[in-house]
Amino acid sequence: MADRTTIEWTDATWNPVTGCTKISAGCDNCYAERFSERFRGTAGHPFEAGFDLTLRPERLEQPLHWRGPRMVFVNSMSDLFHKKVPRKFASRVFDTMEKANWHSFQVLTKRSSILRDFLRARYGSARGPTHIWCGVSIEDGKRKSRIDHLRDAPAGIRFLSIEPLIAPVGRLNLDGIDWVIVGGESGPRAREIRVEWVREIRDQCTDSGVAFFFKQWGGLRPKSGGRDLDGREWSEFPKPTNYLAAAE
Ligand code: SF4
Repeated sequence: MADRTTIEWTDATWNPVTGCTKISAGCDNCYAERFSERFRGTAGHPFEAGFDLTLRPERLEQPLHWRGPRMVFVNSMSDLFHKKVPRKFASRVFDTMEKANWHSFQVLTKRSSILRDFLRARYGSARGPTHIWCGVSIEDGKRKSRIDHLRDAPAGIRFLSIEPLIAPVGRLNLDGIDWVIVGGESGPRAREIRVEWVREIRDQCTDSGVAFFFKQWGGLRPKSGGRDLDGREWSEFPKPTNYLAAAE
């Protein structure tokens, strides 16, 4: 998959890996699994193997052919740091991102310690390039160790995706974090999200000077509940980025 997307906080998706396995409660209603499994067994379809982890080396260079700067969500249909993705393959993904430095890339994982170790091996004590944003996904207060792993990772930009938010997260240590996205779950089994959980996160971001993006309340469809919070949309992005510089 390498196309324009309706995800509010990005422009395009790039999936050099597809497929994954569940790791925590945030995965219970995984959209990528639901979508991929629809096509299992359909001969010739890109998701013929359903949600089985599949490397797609033929897609590795796709972003190099996109001339205009884009915000690119990497592996919207997988997790680049799944333990079955060889480190060499993840390195090739990073090689492309480093070369295609007119884009901004968003790499999001729940395998936070593998991300940390990978970035330490690649960048040492320096920080990675600022057009490669690395983030961890958390869904409740039990997964906050992922934030500590991210803080210890030498990413150029660090972000949190708190989506689906399914329980309060409580106090967050936002030191070293540049951006926080929050969203409710969507789909037929969407779980509850409460306004006080979202406000608690927004207020901590505001107090700490961290960019805050509220993606959606969720519901049956992503746009079912809109995305207003306390009378306005929250659509902040971290700076600086190549993408934003090009748009100005
Ligand atoms: S880590 Fe992401 S892609 Fe993998 S099963 Fe969980 S929600 Fe789905």
